[in-house]
Amino acid sequence: MSDASKWQAVLERDAAMDRRFVYGVLTTGVYCRPSCDSRRPRRDNVRFFDDPAAAAAAGLRPCKRCRPLERWQDDPEIAVLLALCRRIDAAPDDLPDGAALARAAGRDVFQLNRLFKRYLTITPGDYIESVRMRRVRHALRHSASVTDAIYDAGLGSSRSLYERAPASLGMTPKQYRSGGAGLEISHATGTTPLGLACIGATDRGICFLQFGDDADALRAALAAEFPQARLVPMRDEAHAAFDAWMTALNAHLEGRAPDLDLPLDLRGTAFQVRVWNYLRRIPYGDVVSYAEAAAAIDAPRATRAVASACASNHVAVLVPCHRVIRGDGGLGGYRWGLPRKRALIDVERRARATAPVTGD
Ligand SMILES: [Zn+2]
Repeated sequence: MSDASKWQAVLERDAAMDRRFVYGVLTTGVYCRPSCDSRRPRRDNVRFFDDPAAAAAAGLRPCKRCRPLERWQDDPEIAVLLALCRRIDAAPDDLPDGAALARAAGRDVFQLNRLFKRYLTITPGDYIESVRMRRVRHALRHSASVTDAIYDAGLGSSRSLYERAPASLGMTPKQYRSGGAGLEISHATGTTPLGLACIGATDRGICFLQFGDDADALRAALAAEFPQARLVPMRDEAHAAFDAWMTALNAHLEGRAPDLDLPLDLRGTAFQVRVWNYLRRIPYGDVVSYAEAAAAIDAPRATRAVASACASNHVAVLVPCHRVIRGDGGLGGYRWGLPRKRALIDVERRARATAPVTGD
């Protein structure tokens, strides 16, 4: 079958061809069956593959919409994989350990890993993680508050959400280079004790939080950060989440809620994300020096690179770059102005000084 006739089958959404090949869309990183009803991609972004394993080997993931693997489930390997995924989807927090999970599927851990990698490009652990995070995001959209959402998602405490978050962060170098191409970012602006705050979010979480004095300038900053992304004002159904985030942010900025666990979608280079994740582990009310931060991420000679990663943070407060100061006690820099950095550090110190002591 020629590429031309395959492309024709895609244009016609020919379901009769579904078991003959799959097509991948390089810009979205997803592969589909020919009959997928999503918008037709541009021809030059499309590649054809004989089967799902070939598409996955090229780094593509199965489309959530047309679920190409289901069409291939007469393949015994794929049938086992789909049965495992269904089990994980149904109860991601109630699973046996990896060995027992593998045994139940007639495999060992190594084979289980290979099976997931082969068709989904990720490990079983990553898959379980993604199902959990999907539940959290779903709960955030449909729950009255962030705290409700955390419990609705079946998580024991906000701490477990916090500890879990880093695994779901970061982006591939390809996505990073593309400046957010193919990404949809919804945004809205609200008022905080530190001035206006603009929040931008993908369907995975908050990718942008910046302070400013002018809503238009904040929108321009968002556009400059993600030049290729599609920016859309937050829709009504997403506004409940936005309101919950702003409420949580304001409580935090007023010193009333030290733990601020909001869904994050950090987008940066591998090094930046490493620094940002470290910043998120600096306890509330503490500060460290740039050199200490560099040592903590096993890059003791990278003090300047750490400072530059702090300066390029685009998710204020949630990634607390304000907790890093100069070794001589000077404040160092802050992207959103030193008065804001000073205010953040002061609020945290005051709140911690007056907080009831808890046995830890
Ligand atoms: Zn599809």
